Amino acid sequence: MNGTADVVIVGAGIVGAACARACSRRGLRTIVIDGQGVGGGATAAGMGHIVVMDDSPAQLALTAYSRRLWQEIAPELPREAEFDGSGTLWVAGDDEEMAEARRKQSVYAAAGIATEILDGPTLAGVEPQLRRPLAGALRVPGDAVLYPPCAAAFLMREAERAGAELRVGKQVVSAGHGKVRLENGTELAAPQIVIASGADATTLLTGLPVRRRRGHLVITDRYPGWVRHQLVELGYLKSAHSIATDSVAFNVQPRRTGQLLIGSSREYGAENPDVNRRLLSAMLSRARHYLPGLGALEAIRVWTGFRAATPDKLPLIGPWSGDSTIWLATGHEGLGITTSLGTAELLVAGMLGETSEISPQPFWPARFMTESSSSRLSHA
Ligand SMILES: Cc1cc2nc3c(=O)[nH]c(=O)nc-3n(C[C@H](O)[C@H](O)[C@H](O)COP(=O)(O)OP(=O)(O)OC[C@H]3O[C@@H](n4cnc5c(N)ncnc54)[C@H](O)[C@@H]3O)c2cc1C
Repeated sequence: MNGTADVVIVGAGIVGAACARACSRRGLRTIVIDGQGVGGGATAAGMGHIVVMDDSPAQLALTAYSRRLWQEIAPELPREAEFDGSGTLWVAGDDEEMAEARRKQSVYAAAGIATEILDGPTLAGVEPQLRRPLAGALRVPGDAVLYPPCAAAFLMREAERAGAELRVGKQVVSAGHGKVRLENGTELAAPQIVIASGADATTLLTGLPVRRRRGHLVITDRYPGWVRHQLVELGYLKSAHSIATDSVAFNVQPRRTGQLLIGSSREYGAENPDVNRRLLSAMLSRARHYLPGLGALEAIRVWTGFRAATPDKLPLIGPWSGDSTIWLATGHEGLGITTSLGTAELLVAGMLGETSEISPQPFWPARFMTESSSSRLSHA
């Protein structure tokens, strides 16, 4: 054995880093393994929108809880994490979407999330680059933006400060029955192994209900103040979040640097990181539909990344049926930057047998288990 710990975490993306921080701060001897480095994977490819979403009550609970944890940690984040509490504007193109804005407002209000309805003229004053006329928008002032790789690096540094050990550069080739094996033959032993390897988790565990969902992002040159909020179309709820089909939606983020991040696309069945020019062009034309002046700005880079999608759009957080030493922290789809901190709290509470602040049950991997595998879990 080349190391023992209370917990070995596979993956140092933002979810693995958050879990490492939570575990080590609770006194668990923690080793984190990543084949690449800290904050790579989807974390480096993501947008960094810290956002409350309400596709389901469970999603609302986890995103609202996690957003609160980000707000609490924000004063400690280093400058390079670029935390900016600029808020979200859910933009309504027509009356139907305005009705959706009001529905969303009442759901958020019931969850204690502050919002504000803007009418068309007010919206035009707040974000003059948006096309006119638009019906209005729902403003969510507590939402924020950050730069995910640096936020992940901060969480990992905090974990190391609390005693966690980080080992990068070697892939994990197998995990289970209390052992983790690396590609160079190194073996680590721990009674609890956390699989936080994002969309690649399926390479270590067969039967995991996770699919890769490719997304594109474009970044522009610096145009400080060009837009001031994360701008998302309310139609996003109809198109981008449909489970089955490929889609694009208007989703633009102002970065602290003055750059704009332009998204977003969702695509199944794409296994390589190549740019899909047809989808990219549809994504940019959707963005120009809302921001007509966008075409005059200089784009400097485009990239893709892979979200880890589950069938019910909720992450997998908790013990895995096939092996009582395995815990999952994956399947975060397009919300893993937001929900990393909440995930870590749920995970560590589950491991220590404590009560968590929100119900962990909707996120338990057991929801996808067959009856026979569930009974294995309860006997584990
Ligand atoms: C285009 C795009 C936009 C997004 N925008 C947002 C957003 O605005 N807000 C938001 O909340 N979320 C967003 N997301 C989602 C978010 O980026 C992910 O949910 C999140 O980064 C997942 O983090 P993770 O740590 O689980 O996985 P990853 O970041 O993928 O990290 C997994 C890590 O595991 C390592 N690894 C994998 N396999 C092994 C192995 N066998 N051995 C050792 N190491 C291994 C990898 O090297 C990697 O570092 C977006 C995603 C995409 C693609």
